[in-house]
Amino acid sequence: MSYGDDDYDYCPICGSALELESCWQCHGEGGWHDCGEDCCCCLVKDEITVDCDVCDGDGYYLQCMALPHTDAQMAAYRERAGTDVVPGPEPAP
Ligand SMILES: [Zn+2]
Ligand SMILES: [Zn+2]
Ligand SMILES: [Zn+2]
Repeated sequence: MSYGDDDYDYCPICGSALELESCWQCHGEGGWHDCGEDCCCCLVKDEITVDCDVCDGDGYYLQCMALPHTDAQMAAYRERAGTDVVPGPEPAP
């Protein structure tokens, strides 16, 4: 099995199919209006001034249909991906 970074058809964690979901935070807008004023006086009050950090401004993201993942699935994924691993006693070459 291979887990390429560009393969988003299946969940890299559990292998289930991925579904395109509209972002829960920006509701598919890709961002929202935040001009820093309590009382907004902007001409265009819907203008997106802040990119959503959940979807990176796309408004959508791929989500596993088999959520939530179990701790065992997450641990196995982290092991495969080599991320979030506690450094061993030997430093990398
Ligand atoms: Zn999954
Ligand atoms: Zn978003
Ligand atoms: Zn405003």
